Amino acid sequence: MSHPFSLLVTPLRYACQRDFAQLSNVRDLKGVVLGAVAAGKGAGVEPKWLDALSKEAAQVDAPSLPERKAALLRVVGHLHEAGVPLPPELSRLVGAPVTAADSGPLFARPSAAAPPAAQAPRPEPARLEEDDDGFSAAEPKKPAAKGRKKAVGLTESKSEARLLSIAPRSGPLATPLRGLPWRINPRLLTALEKKGVKRAGDVLFLLPRCYEDRRKLRTIAQLIPGERGVALGVVRSAGDVPVRGGRRQFRAVIADATGSISVTYFQSGPWLKAKFPIGKRLVVSGELRASYTGRDMAHPEVEPADDLESSSIHFNRIVPIYPGFERHEQRAFRELAFKICESYADSLEEPLPAGLRDRLDVPGLAAALRGLHFPPDTAEVSELDRHLSPAHRRLAFDELFFLQLGMALKRQGIKADPGIAFDVSEPRVEKAKAALPFQLTDAQGRSLKAIARDMGKAEPMNRLLQGDVGSGKTAVAMASAALALQDGYQVAIMAPTEILAEQHQRTFSRILGAMGYQVDLFTAGGSAKQRRDARAALAEGRTHLAVGTHALLQEGVQFHRLGLVVIDEQHRFGVLQRQNLMQKGVRPDVLVMTATPIPRTLAMTLYGDLEVSIIDELPPGRTPVKTQVFFEKQRPKVYEAMRAELDKGHQCYVVYPLVEESEKIDLADATQGAETIRQLFPQHTVGLLHGRMKAEEKEQVMQQFRAGKSQILVCTTVVEVGVDVPNASVMAIESAERFGLSQLHQLRGRVGRGAAVSFCFLLAGYAKSKEASDRLEVMARSSDGFVIAEKDLELRGPGEFLGTRQSGIPELAVANLARDVDLLELAQQEARAIVDSDPRLDLPEHRTLVSALEERWEGRLALAHVG
Ligand code: ADP
Ligand code: MG
Repeated sequence: MSHPFSLLVTPLRYACQRDFAQLSNVRDLKGVVLGAVAAGKGAGVEPKWLDALSKEAAQVDAPSLPERKAALLRVVGHLHEAGVPLPPELSRLVGAPVTAADSGPLFARPSAAAPPAAQAPRPEPARLEEDDDGFSAAEPKKPAAKGRKKAVGLTESKSEARLLSIAPRSGPLATPLRGLPWRINPRLLTALEKKGVKRAGDVLFLLPRCYEDRRKLRTIAQLIPGERGVALGVVRSAGDVPVRGGRRQFRAVIADATGSISVTYFQSGPWLKAKFPIGKRLVVSGELRASYTGRDMAHPEVEPADDLESSSIHFNRIVPIYPGFERHEQRAFRELAFKICESYADSLEEPLPAGLRDRLDVPGLAAALRGLHFPPDTAEVSELDRHLSPAHRRLAFDELFFLQLGMALKRQGIKADPGIAFDVSEPRVEKAKAALPFQLTDAQGRSLKAIARDMGKAEPMNRLLQGDVGSGKTAVAMASAALALQDGYQVAIMAPTEILAEQHQRTFSRILGAMGYQVDLFTAGGSAKQRRDARAALAEGRTHLAVGTHALLQEGVQFHRLGLVVIDEQHRFGVLQRQNLMQKGVRPDVLVMTATPIPRTLAMTLYGDLEVSIIDELPPGRTPVKTQVFFEKQRPKVYEAMRAELDKGHQCYVVYPLVEESEKIDLADATQGAETIRQLFPQHTVGLLHGRMKAEEKEQVMQQFRAGKSQILVCTTVVEVGVDVPNASVMAIESAERFGLSQLHQLRGRVGRGAAVSFCFLLAGYAKSKEASDRLEVMARSSDGFVIAEKDLELRGPGEFLGTRQSGIPELAVANLARDVDLLELAQQEARAIVDSDPRLDLPEHRTLVSALEERWEGRLALAHVG
């Protein structure tokens, strides 16, 4: 290959794309830079360049984005001067101003406004208007409203404006709000700018959070208890009333010719009174309650009705309510949105080709946006509120489609690269299978067959192997490795942690070592000499299979002839790192394994560029784990059950959660827990394992437990990553409510590996709630990782599901990954069909796709091309 520093080009290109828009998503550039330095050293690059890069290595992961950006620019500069060929996007940056204070467009993106996509969007609770006179200082308190499904939201956090991230950045829609040909209320303008709504297009792409049905106003007599309704009335009286506990509420009476209702706010203050001047005509909207005090609305939304009836924007129609605006701003914003819809929506370029639109029978983008803001009279309000109207569906499709189109291009790009066509003839496959000490299950057999088919093709394999913990993925990986090894290629196995890497090293060398292959471990540990020797063995081809952590890709590790990369991913590696390892050889085949089953929609979104194999069957002889939820006062029962198992000679895990924010407390909990257990089980040896321990210490504790020298292992979540001790039959999980379901499932998979009946005890802490115990009961009911994953996604949303730190999940404003399975499948199917027929999107009818892709994928598209 070319210059050793070329290793850096792809990551840099990604990080620098679109004015560094992706920079906050980029992790561990330091490792990448150091890797390039090491590679450079090996290849005899001039020391001054090595020094220059080493110096930047510490800066490229700096916590402050501007500093990072500056460091990246310097790195690009060094590469340029060192004579590394750079793609135009990077060479353009050479000589760009390098100033740490320049925080410009990096922060200008309103992307943080993504909604919790997994929850079915529902109208957010009504909010009180705040006014200039300091309502926010008042201490909010929980309303005592019974029988209402949602609490009225005084304490509700601010509902943020949801901007679709696809508002065009050029053309008429890029017109700044201040440049529009009509006057906008200056206070509204300021409020909008604060939210990042700055251009006409931003308004067009701001989704209403719910809708109010003003097609038919009810008279006050017509309002039905228990239902939402909108009525118009005149304020008869208003003022604070004392309630229990010496507090005060605000109450007003609104009346029309047919009757009256009271409206109540669990608050008081002069600003409220100002909203309800006697005699003022108001539109009130909310759910009517009938109680002994009479007919009442708690926290209705109110809007002054003056002139409203003559308006075609605010009345006699379904009216949009926007997120993040005070109620009194709604009207002004609605007018602005209306004007922009009228005058600007049509200047929007339709991104979907006409053929596709016709086939799917979806409205055009401009029509969809207009319908989103000002729905037709025939629309269903409940559908609109749940973001399920045809207009919403069209936008959701767009979001998913362009995501899938990018993935499809990336997939196509990989396929187009030259890869290795392994010999996967029958005898080779049989020999690989025969290496395993058992018969493959049907599901394993299917997966191996698909992998062998991929490996036999001259195009690079890019496959995801999904399956529950213990379903036998590692065994399949081992057989795949045997295929590559038999063909004279090297194999790399990447594990997310050292413990797991060591375990893989043991397993792989037991099986493949017997076939005569050399399996070596690459971690950050050991002496410098050991590491050097190991690297030499790998570079010379004496090591056939390298198992390692990040160290495998960071230390300038060179392979002799790398053919297959297996990534045991568990969500811990980012796309970038996957990318990086793939550059280590001539496009090796790649097999990614995920140990947490991922719901189909997430897999399609995260790994849409990969082919997917699923192992949905456990090896024979497993007994399902009996799972039970216990509350704090039942703790003795848990110990009793543990004792019974220990008496049978089995072993137990006791797991404590470890949450980054409260690491100290959690650690103290685990340490304290170990002490308690030691006192409770004096005849047994208790080990303690947590992430703060040194690698050797950890290994020692694990070794002890594995050998049965300790019978109880108290640990933080480090065991999650795949410890295999068949004699362990109990897993007790402390504060189980703090874990996600998928994580619990994965922990649970650590027991039930032997033939004995195993148990999982979930201890719900003191802070148990009905919701928490319902959630935990899902664990007791199901042992299917995919079912649990779906439920988990539904409950927590994609960001939480994957762990927010490195989810890599795109922000979706309308589409919902827990719900829109059908749309996503359609989007993938259509996107792949388009790319199959026109791999570079050269056809004229695909021109709009290219520009839309560029707008929407931003930096990530570069990855699509090079990946
Ligand atoms: P995973 O990687 O999916 O967690 P492993 O491949 O580590 O699963 O398998 C879990 C356990 O089951 C291991 O002890 C392995 O030896 C065993 N195993 C895997 N496949 C089979 C099979 N087909 N028949 C019997 N035992 C199996
Ligand atoms: Mg495993």
